[in-house]
Amino acid sequence: MDFVTEPARHVPVIHRTEVLVVGSGPGGLSAALAAARAGVDVCLVERFGCFGGNITVVGVEGFAWYRHEATVEAGGIGREFEERAKAMGAAVPESQSLSYELDSEGFKLVADRLVEAEAIHAMLHRQFVAPVTDGDRIAGIIVESKAGREAILAKVVIDATGDADVAHRAGAPTFKTPPEEMQAASVMFHLAGVDKAAFMAEVQADPQTYKDWSTGEWKVETDGKEDDMFSPFIKKPFQKALEAGLIPAHLSTIAGTWGALHDTGELTYMNLVHLAAIDGTDPDSMTAGEIEGRRQAMLAIDALRAYMPGCKGVRLRNFGMSIGIRDTRKIDAAYNMTETDVRQQARFDDSIGIYP
Ligand SMILES: Cc1cc2nc3c(=O)[nH]c(=O)nc-3n(C[C@H](O)[C@H](O)[C@H](O)COP(=O)(O)OP(=O)(O)OC[C@H]3O[C@@H](n4cnc5c(N)ncnc54)[C@H](O)[C@@H]3O)c2cc1C
Repeated sequence: MDFVTEPARHVPVIHRTEVLVVGSGPGGLSAALAAARAGVDVCLVERFGCFGGNITVVGVEGFAWYRHEATVEAGGIGREFEERAKAMGAAVPESQSLSYELDSEGFKLVADRLVEAEAIHAMLHRQFVAPVTDGDRIAGIIVESKAGREAILAKVVIDATGDADVAHRAGAPTFKTPPEEMQAASVMFHLAGVDKAAFMAEVQADPQTYKDWSTGEWKVETDGKEDDMFSPFIKKPFQKALEAGLIPAHLSTIAGTWGALHDTGELTYMNLVHLAAIDGTDPDSMTAGEIEGRRQAMLAIDALRAYMPGCKGVRLRNFGMSIGIRDTRKIDAAYNMTETDVRQQARFDDSIGIYP
């Protein structure tokens, strides 16, 4: 490989703060709000034009679909996101639980109001590119934007990039699952033009359950009590499309969940495309995933038009702004949670939240 050498440069320091949060997904937004409420100066840096991370950027709207009678959960800022969204008309009842589904567009406004209310110094459209280090301490970050390279200095830097970008570039130990073993990535999309009455009549006539996920491509383990619970799972139209040759035989992975069906005919949070071996830290891999994901989404829409009642006249409303990555670079932490921890509901003395 050839290399070029970048000249050293003087980078202007454009801001100083006590706490600097890099990345504004559910993790970064919560960190910024909690820090500001503790009374310190907070700056929140985000590479895109909105806060919210996977919620707003990808369209992951199902925020608490696990919630049923007697579910144990942490409450806190996560619950506040949902309550605020409800109050601002940016959430609708979720189909399988006692929760509300966030509206991925409306949540952009919810996040704006939350950030403004705590006087957090907001910096959108700035991408973290390098740490500023002072010995073994991260003393700030370099960002790159239309304004060029700029520095922001802080007493504490919180890496909420989802990809451990700050930690990794500062030399902290990180690791990744081999891409072929990573959880699938998804190109998410939203539809318009659904005949709600016809769609819901079909869902009620042939309700899908968690057990139905285990037919064919996927295996889902439950302890049995979930098997008969309703799931907004959709597979039969894609099976029919496979049989009819509308979807190529190798795409038996097209299936998954629908999110909210609005009175206006919008069907959102379509989680139907699953792409193997996409590495969220490799832009070439993500380029391939975006293009292939959009291709598969359109095949899924063709199949819905042909075989799902209520979907004959549907139209693509939008894709998420970015492919959705579930599995990526992680910080090699003082303690790394294990599969056994998850399966056996581990408890820790320093827990800050419980996700059931
Ligand atoms: C399709 C899909 C479905 C999912 N479904 C569920 C589910 O049902 N239940 C569940 O618990 N979880 C689900 N997840 C996972 C969930 O979305 C994530 O765990 C969660 O979003 C992680 O939050 P985060 O704040 O750590 O990171 P993210 O949401 O990824 O946010 C990171 C933020 O940092 C910004 N950023 C990244 N790099 C930089 C940089 N260099 N400079 C500046 N900003 C940067 C990004 O733009 C983004 O805004 C799903 C994920 C996907 C993709």
